[in-house]
Amino acid sequence: MFKIPITKPFLGEEEKQLVSLVIDSGWVSQGPRVAEFEEAFAAYVGAKYAVATTSCTTALHAALSVSGIGPGDEVILPSLSFIASANSIVHCGATPVFVDINSETCNIDVTRIEPAITEKTKAIMPVHQMGLAADIDAVRIIAEKHSLKIIEDAACAVGSEYKGKRIGGHGNIACFSFHPRKIITTGEGGMVTTDDPAVAERLRRFRHHGMSVSDIERHIANRIIIETYPEIGYNYRMTDMQAAMGIEQMRKLPFIVEKRKQIAGIYDNELSKIPHIKVPKVSSYAFHNYQSYWIELLDSSPVRRDMLMMKLLEKGVTTRRGIMAIHMEKSYSRYKASLPETERISARTLLLPIYPTLTEDEQGYVIHCIKEILK
Ligand SMILES: *Cc1c(COP(=O)(O)O)cnc(C)c1O
Repeated sequence: MFKIPITKPFLGEEEKQLVSLVIDSGWVSQGPRVAEFEEAFAAYVGAKYAVATTSCTTALHAALSVSGIGPGDEVILPSLSFIASANSIVHCGATPVFVDINSETCNIDVTRIEPAITEKTKAIMPVHQMGLAADIDAVRIIAEKHSLKIIEDAACAVGSEYKGKRIGGHGNIACFSFHPRKIITTGEGGMVTTDDPAVAERLRRFRHHGMSVSDIERHIANRIIIETYPEIGYNYRMTDMQAAMGIEQMRKLPFIVEKRKQIAGIYDNELSKIPHIKVPKVSSYAFHNYQSYWIELLDSSPVRRDMLMMKLLEKGVTTRRGIMAIHMEKSYSRYKASLPETERISARTLLLPIYPTLTEDEQGYVIHCIKEILK
């Protein structure tokens, strides 16, 4: 019997070698490899600057902080997201304001944004959920009208496109994740992209204890530099070992996205033949990297979602529930919201195995098992 995980990072000898070179070099914290990874990432997504961090959560926290989001401010975001999206807002002392999603795309329903705006609203955080681009232009029109910042949660979206242009290259601040569940991985890690040199500068300081000079600048200077701390920051620095992995992962990224697309195409074809299942729809403006592949179980299904997941697990197929609804968690019970589409989608969707090394036989087995159970 097959035993199929939900995902597998696509790592090899190349990453091992590059990491071991870093160890041999003697510089293991944020240094030359981080700078190289940042350059490669910015060039790939089409942003002027990229600033590496320890995770997407810290990337979001840094991005919100340098955007001046603080106590008393409100940030609008979808509740259908990983909890870290909202946590980053709460860690700034600000208030997350949840709005519903468009159930076709699982992304923020842009028609819900304006009614949620108050005089306290400072920013909108669209989430490119599971890698599928949110409607950035529609968000931008609202943001400009009300003078709001946009911070894109692009945790899952490296390699995805909106209107022919990669996520991260649309002029807003965007935050990416390199957790192993995402498209490329550095173990843990994150990246902020921006076109604004002042924002990039503040991000670099913020992640480095608020310090006025970087370690590299101090290292290469042939004079004494006494650093200053113009503001209070954090330690959100990526290590050079992680960045070395990231550099190699960037080279593999086109292949990874291509494979995922291929696998998603097979799921689309086969699963759309099953009457009880709805397969994901890709908006006409999007190129999807398929960070996740989700299906919705319709009311006609003979088994409920959790039962399907359990039966699949018994057959060796790992799945995950669809994206959570943050406002339903106990930790967010004081942020009241009525979000019927979010609740419905969160309860009825599940994620299927998808990763570059998933073989045709293995995928065939997953599809076979789903057909068996839903017969
Ligand atoms: C994974 C994820 C995060 C958190 O990323 P980390 O790198 O694990 O901190 C944030 N938002 C979304 C939408 C995610 O999927």
